[in-house]
Amino acid sequence: MNDLALHEHVTGPRGERVLVRRSARRRRTVSISRRDGDLLIAIPATFSARQERQWVTKMVDQLVRKEARRAPARRSDEALLRMAREVSEAHLGGRAHPSSVTWSSRQNQRWGSCTPTDGSIRLSHQLQGMPDYVVRSVMMHELVHLLVPGHGPEFKALMANYPLAEKAQGFLDGVSWSKNLPPGGGEVDEGADGEGTAAAGAAPDQLERRAR
Ligand SMILES: [Zn+2]
Repeated sequence: MNDLALHEHVTGPRGERVLVRRSARRRRTVSISRRDGDLLIAIPATFSARQERQWVTKMVDQLVRKEARRAPARRSDEALLRMAREVSEAHLGGRAHPSSVTWSSRQNQRWGSCTPTDGSIRLSHQLQGMPDYVVRSVMMHELVHLLVPGHGPEFKALMANYPLAEKAQGFLDGVSWSKNLPPGGGEVDEGADGEGTAAAGAAPDQLERRAR
């Protein structure tokens, strides 16, 4: 399959590799499909490198949106913010004040991150479709970071207010393990936080789009 080129700048919603095939037969259509755990994007052979980059990003974003629509309705950004406020209220006495919570497709190495100075939280779109208690646990982790940097005793004491944290971590470790990633996650901490990653994931799926 030497007609397939690995596109290095982008990964799929579950960390899938993105492979690009240039097709001499294609004139104006671009397609994305899942194959053997990879995302396969076919583009016209006449595309420039710049067009290729643009379309790869566009098609992956579109696939993410399409798959997100199939996930439970509670998972819009507004619903995420509501969920964050509920979690803060229930487990932190309402002390953490998130200003926004959004899904991010740019976090393939982390489950979540936050910016304490402005109260924004981002969750990896890889969490979409995972059980509620898992999403809430990552949310809780980020909410605690709005109050406490790092993972010291104070952080652990606050996390202990969320009773399902350990169970959720086990779930996330299992996800990482099944994708051959180090369990526990390789958290890439910069005062903010995160963990884990992904790879593979089948489910036949196809999206076609007309290039212009
Ligand atoms: Zn953290």
